Amino acid sequence: MTPPPLTPCPLCGNADDLLPVDVREMMFGSGRVYRYAHCAACASLRYIGPPISGEEQYPSGYYVHAPRPQGTRPLAAWLQGRRARHAAGSRELLGGIVHHLFTDRAFDSLRRLKLQASSAILDVGCGNGRLVAALHRAGFRNVTGADPFLARVASENAQPRFLRSDIAEIHGQFDVVMFHHSFEHLPDPRATLSHVERLLRPGGQCLIATPNLDSQAWRDYGAEWVQIDAPRHYFIFSARALGALVADTGFVIEHIRHDSTAFQFWGSELYRRGIPLTAPASPARSRMPERLRPQMLPLSFKAALLNRRNDGDQLVMYLRKI
Ligand SMILES: [Zn+2]
Repeated sequence: MTPPPLTPCPLCGNADDLLPVDVREMMFGSGRVYRYAHCAACASLRYIGPPISGEEQYPSGYYVHAPRPQGTRPLAAWLQGRRARHAAGSRELLGGIVHHLFTDRAFDSLRRLKLQASSAILDVGCGNGRLVAALHRAGFRNVTGADPFLARVASENAQPRFLRSDIAEIHGQFDVVMFHHSFEHLPDPRATLSHVERLLRPGGQCLIATPNLDSQAWRDYGAEWVQIDAPRHYFIFSARALGALVADTGFVIEHIRHDSTAFQFWGSELYRRGIPLTAPASPARSRMPERLRPQMLPLSFKAALLNRRNDGDQLVMYLRKI
């Protein structure tokens, strides 16, 4: 029996150049196969099926369930605060050293936002809340992290504020709404972006850091590319696909930067060999910073070259509400 034809791409409307792509779950190594549709017109993948439960997407070992770092060692928390100050644009020698040693793309993308101490900042899909806690320590006075999988929420009125909720349930007014690798986990990007538009003050900024399908890694690895992360990612975008999504909203694209890392190579090589990301042998288990692992250096260098050619496998898009 021939499967029914794929419905048009919800991002760009293309109805012709669509192909099914079957992707195996490899983070936990269940090996189950999930179907995506590839749109050649805007360079995107979208989840097709089968229908899936939250438990199947996010089993109990999923990292965002980890407690947020209220209980982390005071010195580490203090250093993270210094690092956030540096990342947000202050001159901070110690924070700068920590920042450059322990590469973290979420911090890397802050400077361009030109945050003020009083900026109302929302981090959607904040995971364990490390960025929110660090920004608060750095002196930002109005920081909120939201995630439906937060382990616990002390008080919704404390600072930093943590909300165990979905983006659709959030209300209020913000200057900055950030998605650090969470936008691709949401099933309806168009509705999400309209909601963000309502949450932002005029002139407010939205940051979307997300995997990039229009990349060397996708061309080289295809269904084994680590950042598809089936079945957790509903959409894998590209600059073109995000551009199509933003086109009929009240946002303008101010800037796009490519910030891929060595992960695109070593993660995809694991998947090609059938090794789950969480396997004992996986480099993901190492606590050593990537910068101090000699075998990672050539891969980081390769990633930097791809980023310069706008061909890295993740990007950050900065939007402004007009
Ligand atoms: Zn499309």
